[in-house]
Amino acid sequence: MENCIFCQIVSGTIPSSKVYEDDKVMAFLDITQTTNGHTLVIPKKHVRNVLEMDQETAQDLFVQLPKIARAVQKATGAAGMNIINNNEEVAGQTVFHAHIHLVPRFDSNDGISINYTTHEPDFQALGTLSEKIAKEVE
Ligand code: AMP
Ligand code: ZN
Repeated sequence: MENCIFCQIVSGTIPSSKVYEDDKVMAFLDITQTTNGHTLVIPKKHVRNVLEMDQETAQDLFVQLPKIARAVQKATGAAGMNIINNNEEVAGQTVFHAHIHLVPRFDSNDGISINYTTHEPDFQALGTLSEKIAKEVE
C-alpha cells in the first residue's frame, strides 16, 4: 500500500532498525523506544489490524513472536515483556498496518504502567456475554 509507512519499511523505501525478516514477517525497533528494545513485529502483507486479519497471515505472524520476543529479552536483559496490540483509533492504533508491540520490562519504575479497570465478578452477566460471543465465532 503506497502511503503506508510500514509497507514502505517492508519495501525498503524508508529505513528501519531491522531485527528479523523472513518471507512473511518483519520486526524492527519502534522509533519511540518506550523501553529499551521496544520492537514492532509486522506481517509484510498490508492488513489494517488483527480485526481484519486472515488466518494465514495470523499464523505467519504469531508463530514468529516467541523467538523474536526471546531475542529481544536476551539482547536487552529484560526481566519480562508486555506484548501489546492496538486495534483501531479508540484502542490507540495510530499506524494502520497491523503490528505487535514487544515492550521489554525491567522493573516497576521503567516508565510503563498498564491499568485495567476491574469490576466485581457478575457471573450471570459473564455467562450471557460468553454465550453471545461464542455464537459469533466463525
Ligand atoms: P500504534 O499506536 O499501536 O499504532 O503504534 C504505532 C507505533 O509505530 C508507535 O509506537 C510509533 O512510535 C511507531 N512508528 C511510527 N513510525 C515508525 C517508523 N518509521 N519506524 C519505527 N516505528 C515507527
Ligand atoms: Zn501497510
